[in-house]
Amino acid sequence: MSTNRRQFLSSAVGGLVTAGAASGTRRAWAQGAAPKIQPGKIKPGGRDVLLVVDVQNDFIPGGALAVKEGDVIVPLVNQIAAGFEHVIMTQDWHTPGHISFASSHPGKKPFETTKLAYGTQVLWPDHCVQGTPGADFHKDLKIPHAELVIRKGYRKQMDSYSAFYEADGKATTGLAGYVRDRGFRQVFLVGLATDFCVCWSALDARKVGLGALVIEDACRGIDTNGSLAKAWDQMTKAGVKRIRSADLSA
Ligand SMILES: [Zn+2]
Repeated sequence: MSTNRRQFLSSAVGGLVTAGAASGTRRAWAQGAAPKIQPGKIKPGGRDVLLVVDVQNDFIPGGALAVKEGDVIVPLVNQIAAGFEHVIMTQDWHTPGHISFASSHPGKKPFETTKLAYGTQVLWPDHCVQGTPGADFHKDLKIPHAELVIRKGYRKQMDSYSAFYEADGKATTGLAGYVRDRGFRQVFLVGLATDFCVCWSALDARKVGLGALVIEDACRGIDTNGSLAKAWDQMTKAGVKRIRSADLSA
C-alpha cells in the first residue's frame, strides 16, 4: 500500500471525529434505548433490518479495490441474513468516468487525493462501474428475501461511503426515508469495509435516530495505520454497538 493511501485513510478516519461528535448524533442516541447485549440473546424482530454493505466483486480479492478476506464473510452473511425478516443490500454504483476514479483526473494515480467542492477525495482505481461484473454482488451471496437494494455513488460528481448520505453529508440516497416509512428502529450492519462504508453507514444510522449494531465477524476492514481501531472508537462514541454473530439467537 502506498504512503499516499495510508495518509489518506488515516486522515479520512480522523475526519469521522467531527461526524461522531455532532450534537445531532448525541440527541438521537439519547432518544433511543441502548440495546442490552447478552450472548446469544439478540433476536431480530419486525422493526430490525439487516444492512448488507457492498459485498461486490470489486471489493473481493481479485477485484479492482479488494478488501483482504472480503470473500470469507459471505457464508456467514448468508447465515445471518436468514435470521432476519428484513434485509437491505447496498451496492456501490458508479458512472463511467466517476469523479472518485483516478482515471478521471489527468496526472493522478490511484490512492492519491484531490480537493473537490465537498472536501478531500481519495482517487480510487475504477471500480463498481454500473452494469459491469465488478459491480455485481459476489456470486455466493444468497439473500433472496432482501427487500431493497440501495445504490450509492451514482452521482457522477460525488462519492458516497455511507448508505444514507453521500460525501457532502447532504445528498441523500433515500434510505433514511425508506427506513422511516417502513417503521424500522434498529439496523444491524455486515459487509465491507468495516472502517469505511460500514462505519460511515453506522454513524449515519445513529444520526437519523436509529439503533445501530455492527456484527464485527461478518465484516472485514482495510485496517491501515490504525484506521480500524479509530473507526471503532468513533462508532462506540456515537452509540454504535459492537457485537458478534454469536450474540444473535439461533
Ligand atoms: Zn466507490
